[in-house]
Amino acid sequence: MVKKNDQLIVTIEDIGANGEGIGKYQGYTLFIKNTAVGDKVLVKVMKAGKSYGYARLMEIIEPSAFRVSPICPIAGKCGGCQIMHLDYEKQLEYKEDKVRNCLTKIGGFDKITMEPIVGMDYPYYYRNKSQFPVGKNKEGKVVIGFYASRTHSIIDTDHCYIGADVNIKIIKFMRSFTEKYNIEPYDEVKHTGLLRHILTRMGYKTGEVMVCLVINGKDIPHKNKLVEGLRKIPGMKSICLNINTSNTNVILGEKVIKVWGETYIEDYIGKVKYRISPLSFFQVNPIQTEKLYNLALEYADLQGDEVVWDLYCGIGTISLFLAEKAKKVYGVEIIPQAIEDAKVNARINGIDNAEFYVGAAEEILPKKHKEENISADVIVVDPPRKGCDQKLLDTIISIAPKKVVYVSCDPATLARDLKYLHEGGYELKKVRPVDQFGHSVHVETVVLMCASSEAGKC
Ligand code: SAH
Repeated sequence: MVKKNDQLIVTIEDIGANGEGIGKYQGYTLFIKNTAVGDKVLVKVMKAGKSYGYARLMEIIEPSAFRVSPICPIAGKCGGCQIMHLDYEKQLEYKEDKVRNCLTKIGGFDKITMEPIVGMDYPYYYRNKSQFPVGKNKEGKVVIGFYASRTHSIIDTDHCYIGADVNIKIIKFMRSFTEKYNIEPYDEVKHTGLLRHILTRMGYKTGEVMVCLVINGKDIPHKNKLVEGLRKIPGMKSICLNINTSNTNVILGEKVIKVWGETYIEDYIGKVKYRISPLSFFQVNPIQTEKLYNLALEYADLQGDEVVWDLYCGIGTISLFLAEKAKKVYGVEIIPQAIEDAKVNARINGIDNAEFYVGAAEEILPKKHKEENISADVIVVDPPRKGCDQKLLDTIISIAPKKVVYVSCDPATLARDLKYLHEGGYELKKVRPVDQFGHSVHVETVVLMCASSEAGKC
């Protein structure tokens, strides 16, 4: 019988959904973070339930052949990356398996022709957006960095190996600015202090940089010194403040104030230019996003005369990519500000065959179809992790587009929704995972489903 505080030796046999290693001790399953399949490890049991428990890695007795020494010294402690200790090729294999398993076990698909995962050429310094919490340590010193896994204690660091490398300069400067001018970091417990987070964004093709300071107040002192220092950083285009005076762990407030430059930066994905403000949702890995959208476009296989719907369209990223090849694209998104951005993005690219609607996809699509008799040859969906609303899937089935291209960030809900579409008359044609988030457990997937009656044409 395994009990709390037991020290045991186990061999890791599998990886769980959150990247943790899974090992068995006399048939009893243990989940152990920071371990790799093939590791023989000494662990200490932290929590023991009836049939499974959680243990902490104490010592690696024999390392797995897939284990690598992470480039980042705080990997394992930081909550950002969960599997940096795994060889990148093995990470890709893990993600591919995750998608395949969900499609078989949840989706009930047995013969899946999966195309190989699209990996990153260089899985470092890829994120175009970073958010650094600011706080104080026990000694009262300012700390800037990342939250430790599952806590809000900040690990002090200037260097994130998956963030844009310009962040190193920004954080070094912000650290000295905060110390020199006694800018009080925010205290989450007491809800006091000023500086909460430092948000940075970087346009990989344009080289444009944004720094947005999230503050618990109306303004920040010594702004001229702030601007003087940050402006020296190459590419600086936007310095702004985001006001968040709420007692919440939501990072951003609603109000953005310009301090210097613009309140946005611009970047390209493929040939399409996007305007990105501090509050916009924008894919965080621009290089892989281009591959992801190209794949969605390839699966849609547009000939130029199609009416396409892009549901859950955000700031119109996929819509504008599709617009070049389609007769007409309709984008639907629930956040009004994102639709404002989508319209601006269409305008700055001279795209006039894309129209955008604010609202829930499951409300707008049936309404437009019924009231205005708008048709759909191809429907693209890119929902959040919870997947599509069943009402939306029912509408898709009744509108019966030839093709449904499903872009997903959660293989489990993807599989659930594909099963439903399959029961509604769609065939699973193509599946291809894309690694947008190297060193994390997340994986994106693009799927093509074709109406059974049209299967031959697809
Ligand atoms: N396709 C975009 C955004 C995908 S993220 C891109 O690639 O950038 C998913 C989006 O769905 C978010 O912008 C979210 O605000 C939106 N959303 C969430 N629920 C929705 C719903 N019921 N109807 C329409 N959009 C929704």
